[in-house]
Amino acid sequence: MSFDELGLSPELLKAVAKQGYTEPTPIQEQAIPLVLSGSDMLASAQTGTGKTASFTLPILQHLSKKELKGKRQPRALILTPTRELAAQVSSNLRSYAQFTNLRSTVIYGGVNQNPQVRALQQGQDIVIATPGRLLDLYNQRHLSLRAISMFVLDEADRMLDMGFLGDIKKIISLMPEKRQNLMFSATFSGEIKKLTKEFLHNPVTVDVSPPNSTVTAIAQKAYRVDKAKKTELLVKLINEEAWGQALVFTRTKHGANNLSDRIEKAGISSVAIHGNKSQGARTKALADFKRKKVQILVATDIAARGLDIPLLPHVVNFDLPNISEDYVHRIGRTGRAGADGVAISFVSPDENNYLRGIEKLIDFTIPAEVPEGFLTPRKPSKKAMARGEGRGPRRNEPKSERNSSGSGFKGKSRRPSNNSDIEKSSSKGQKNGTAKPKDRKPKKRWY
Ligand code: AMP
Repeated sequence: MSFDELGLSPELLKAVAKQGYTEPTPIQEQAIPLVLSGSDMLASAQTGTGKTASFTLPILQHLSKKELKGKRQPRALILTPTRELAAQVSSNLRSYAQFTNLRSTVIYGGVNQNPQVRALQQGQDIVIATPGRLLDLYNQRHLSLRAISMFVLDEADRMLDMGFLGDIKKIISLMPEKRQNLMFSATFSGEIKKLTKEFLHNPVTVDVSPPNSTVTAIAQKAYRVDKAKKTELLVKLINEEAWGQALVFTRTKHGANNLSDRIEKAGISSVAIHGNKSQGARTKALADFKRKKVQILVATDIAARGLDIPLLPHVVNFDLPNISEDYVHRIGRTGRAGADGVAISFVSPDENNYLRGIEKLIDFTIPAEVPEGFLTPRKPSKKAMARGEGRGPRRNEPKSERNSSGSGFKGKSRRPSNNSDIEKSSSKGQKNGTAKPKDRKPKKRWY
């Protein structure tokens, strides 16, 4: 199918051609005609599938057709969970809108509000925003939402994970009831379904990737590795397999900084982004990475949310996420817009439960390899051998290893910790690190 067949105006087709897009992606093919028809829509699509154009193009078309009455005020609102995603959506929207007369602006926290207020005062047709700053400016009476006729909730699952439900409901209450609603989510929990019922009216459902599944263009691989040898393995893979750029995920902010430093020490350029860095530092890190000044970007889940890094060949889960859904989000950073990608997970013995949770969620067993020299063999004790089981821990074994599910679980709580170093998103969702009693039995398997 070509873009010409989707019912888009010549101005939008010209902009799309200028971007170099030759044909619509599956989500664009399905969503654009539906959104143009005026229906509410619930779409399961991850960043990287071309979803941004699938809602921004029809919004631009609708708004350019409607005559402007009176003062220019926001007629479309796009809510995103993070500043980076808001900035990305805004930049895409501007390129698609370049041959129209429509104006858009982006609003997010962490930066001075004055330029945003000035932009609103000039009059805008489309506002892209994160919930907190939007409400902040609304409360200061810098914008009205009474003229909104199209509303997009992007990455709704992540919004809820970040605790934005209250803000979203408040924002919805400030808009006119008669409007078109579009909601995007990569995963569908019970909470998301409830939200869907509350504000979408007879939505059409578009599924480009089945809920909670991973993009098929992505090759997934796991390496069994000692925790202490993960950096060494990463550096070896980067060098020996001559990787280009890679995005590497860690679970904690501190872990991101640490890893980035160690990669630099190995002579590979690297930068870390996480919630403790200022907006300026995050923007610069991302810009340097995009310009290929930096080879490795180390990120926490929250910081990486919505990053648009085209054709990223490698994504590495240096630590497995303790929320299974985050795995789906993370590996959505590769294999973008039809390009092939590889998602590699480093699994240390204490992360076996996380791996099981992820595999259950995606309904797929990730092929695992044991790279030579990177995993200490764990032999069964005589007693366990007699019982036909794996052995318990040796006294001098590192604590993390003793707690692994492979063997030797001591009955301590294995819930993901509330460590403040872990970025906030982990507060909700499926916790795959929670050991059920049956998980606590010593396992016959060892590596
Ligand atoms: P998104 O999922 O919206 O973040 O888009 C991911 C990437 O795909 C962005 O870099 C877009 O510029 C790009 N893209 C979107 N639509 C197309 C298309 N039809 N053909 C090629 N690339 C596209």
